Amino acid sequence: MKNTLNRYSTLKQVAHLSAFLMLTLTLGACAKLDRETKTSHSISTDLVDHFADNGTGNPLAVVQYPAGEYHDGITYVSYQGPFEDPYVAAYNHESKEWLGPFRAGTSELGRREGRTKFDNHGKPTLLIDDEGYIHIFYGGHGGDKHHGDNPLGNVHHGANKNSISKRPLDISEWEEVDNISVFGTYNQAVKMDNGDIYLFYRHGAHRSDWVYQLSTDNGRTYSEPVSFLKHKRRDDLKAVDSWYAWARRGQGDDIIVGFDYHLCWDGGAGVNGRGHTTQRHDAHYMVFNTKTGVWRNVKGEQLTMPLTREQAEQKTLALDTGDSWTFNGTVNLDSNGYPHIAMNYGKDLGHKTGGPKLTHHIKWDGKTWSDGIKINGQKSGISRGDFMFTPDQNIQYFLSEQDGKDGVISTWTSNDGGKSFVKTKELLRKPKASFATTAIIKNSHPDARVIVGERSSLTPHRKIYLVGENGPIQRPFSDATLQKDTSTFKSK
Ligand code: ZN
Repeated sequence: MKNTLNRYSTLKQVAHLSAFLMLTLTLGACAKLDRETKTSHSISTDLVDHFADNGTGNPLAVVQYPAGEYHDGITYVSYQGPFEDPYVAAYNHESKEWLGPFRAGTSELGRREGRTKFDNHGKPTLLIDDEGYIHIFYGGHGGDKHHGDNPLGNVHHGANKNSISKRPLDISEWEEVDNISVFGTYNQAVKMDNGDIYLFYRHGAHRSDWVYQLSTDNGRTYSEPVSFLKHKRRDDLKAVDSWYAWARRGQGDDIIVGFDYHLCWDGGAGVNGRGHTTQRHDAHYMVFNTKTGVWRNVKGEQLTMPLTREQAEQKTLALDTGDSWTFNGTVNLDSNGYPHIAMNYGKDLGHKTGGPKLTHHIKWDGKTWSDGIKINGQKSGISRGDFMFTPDQNIQYFLSEQDGKDGVISTWTSNDGGKSFVKTKELLRKPKASFATTAIIKNSHPDARVIVGERSSLTPHRKIYLVGENGPIQRPFSDATLQKDTSTFKSK
């Protein structure tokens, strides 16, 4: 242990030295940019709420997990920047200094011929391995047809890629490593106590299996993909069974997985010929014991993998959402080891995406699943978020929601085990905006719980914020002012 600590402190010094050099360079570059843009801020040291202003499209989401990690005094964060490339920044809680962002890889999505809009699947997932190297997974939207046949499903765009920091705990330089399937999208990276890394993702476009790849050498190489959720053509409808999943560490050797079902209609099929929509339903839950390789449901019954819709309906269903359409959220365990699920759902209003969806909380009490409890109590609307358990076992949500035309990030807390929630603190509010939010940062510091991107219809550029229990962590305006996206899109 002592050796490890010594090694880390040396690495930290190296990281700090290169951080200082890069900070000097960055400050120089930012100052130049500031002069060129001639903004209304006359003093470049004015503090602003965001740490970067070059996010693009929908730059962040709950499904990229983790999007950030706190490690040894520093919070490392990632987001989708210009040309859907992954960007990584770091905040030192002791010195109160920001570093970066640095471009950490090159996304195929942003270089695709015939681009008509941001693809938004460039969003990175970030994980620190046991040697301190930082890994990011990004840029895939099911793989492109130029990659050939997808053995586990169909394809769409981009290539799922992995970049690893050249030095431990140093975000300034990155190496692209060809060690995972290009067909991936929606990465979730889970590290176990023994250092094994499980990378979960959908292996292709909608009509594809969900898989994991395992690395036992700190993310240098990975096993072949193993399917755990099966896509399958239906024989009763003109549609295919499809899924959206989300994974996090459970107890001991367990990984817990929450998921919802996507009824992937054929073109022109569906109710009243609506064709393909984002129709998704229900909340499901299952557990993977990484030691034995056995998957089980909440009652401990073993599951046959990869899981089919028929088996899921019988064994893993936590909530039947009926006619409401879902957008899956996160899962977590309370101190009893009982799972709680955040699931977003709302009425189908006939839109391509159904309608707006609000975050609900579902919990297992050891015998049954509760009904979904709405977090913010709004009648209808949009919210997204993740939750954690406080030391006294209150449930605390970090929720992105709308208050009229304002985008708001707030904490909502339940002290009755998830039966009711009250708004406890407003952390960030911006007019004429909505916030894209991540799940809670891994091992998060109270001052830095989630990363959020401010979406506005007035600009394609997104301000990115690191928000904790005291609001956003600020940064001098000039440092937060960056080179922005210059994409030109083909008209549809
Ligand atoms: Zn589909």
